[in-house]
Order: sequence, then C-alpha cells, then structure tokens
Amino acid sequence: MTVGVLALQGSFNEHIAALRRLGVQGIEIRKAEQLLTVSSLIIPGGESTTMAKLAEYHNLFPALREFVKTGKPVWGTCAGLIFLADRAVGQKEGGQELVGGLDCTVHRNFFGSQIQSFEADISVPLLTSKEGGPETYRGVFIRAPAVLDVGPDVQVLAHYPVPSNKEDAVPETNVIVAVKQRNLLATAFHPELTADTRWHSYFMKMGKEVEEGASSSSSGTIVS
Ligand code: GLN
Repeated sequence: MTVGVLALQGSFNEHIAALRRLGVQGIEIRKAEQLLTVSSLIIPGGESTTMAKLAEYHNLFPALREFVKTGKPVWGTCAGLIFLADRAVGQKEGGQELVGGLDCTVHRNFFGSQIQSFEADISVPLLTSKEGGPETYRGVFIRAPAVLDVGPDVQVLAHYPVPSNKEDAVPETNVIVAVKQRNLLATAFHPELTADTRWHSYFMKMGKEVEEGASSSSSGTIVS
C-alpha cells in the first residue's frame, strides 16, 4: 500500500517520516498523474492559501477532487482540513479554491495567529486502547483551524474545550477539531509533528478496510 503525500508546501516531509516509522512508504505528490499510483492521500498542514495557489498553478484541483470521489482514504491535517472542507470562513479577501468533499464549515484561523499556537491534551475516544478508558492525545495546534458545523454524514472524532476568555466564541464551548466522513479524515492539529503515530496508524487502517472492500465498516467512534 503506497500513501501519497501532497508535497507542494508545508509539513509533507514530516508525514513521510511518520509513515516510515510505521514501515509504510510515502510518495511525494506534485503532479496529477502521480495520484493514479497511490492508494491513499495525505494533504499536510502548511499555509492553505499558498498551497491552493500552487495546486492551481499545477492544475491539481480536478485530480484531487476526482481522488476524493474514488472512495480512497484522504486525510487532511490543518491546512489539509481546510482544503477538504466544503465551506470555509475567515478567508483572505476573495477566498481560495478548496478541494471539498467534507460536508463541514471550517474557520481557517479559528485559534488565531502563529503566536497563539499551542499544544493541548485532547480526548480522542477513537484512539482508546483495548484496555479501555479514555486516553488523551497531545494535539499540536499551529495557526489552527476549527470546524464550525458538520453535515449529517460527518462523525465528530474530537473536540477542544475553548477557554472561557476566548473572543468570538461562546464561553467554554467544545469546538470540533477532528472529523471523519466515509473515506475522508481531517484533523485541525498536526499528528505528523509528534512521535505519536496513532493517527497515522488509524489512517492506514482506513486504507486496509478500503482494500478489503469493507470501507463501510470503517466507522470509528462517534463522540457527539
Ligand atoms: N490556518 C492556516 C491556513 O489557513 C493553516 C495552518 C496550518 O496548517 N498549520 O492555512
């Protein structure tokens, strides 16, 4: 199983290194035809406007949309989440092109600018060990987006409890930071920047299920 990693900009090397730690080969994707050679795709974090401009320049959007429709697993982290969303707010004037497919609205810079980046332990029932009991996951949030609303087919995999002093947000609200819709996985944080490979392992599991023709059973755990 080969995993493509969109390699226009951002943390694609870190994703490839995380895959390598699992013994999986990651292939850098820069051209539309390269998508035909991979069985799943990761769209990394970075800067989504720049990434979109580069994707436009290389005429990648039609092929990316086509890939999403094939049912093969696609995982967007941070800027990649923005790419996969059907709707985005908090955009620069004129907005940017999106790949879409994930029925949600994303706020591009929900958590603020670079200096408001942070790490936090979040609860991710999906990653709970066999022994049971809730486990936390150390999320790295860099100029992070958040999901504001989701459609009926979208499973919410993780929330982040927004502190009560956060402007523009209802006090102590849980905002959505990880979602899944059939073959699409999206996280507002950066698993590729940690030594913890649980999200990458989960993504590989999604790929195996598709290969075994059992993608419909890849439901994960719904937490809301
Ligand atoms: N908020 C950033 C954007 O709009 C994404 C940040 C990231 O990928 N770390 O592109």
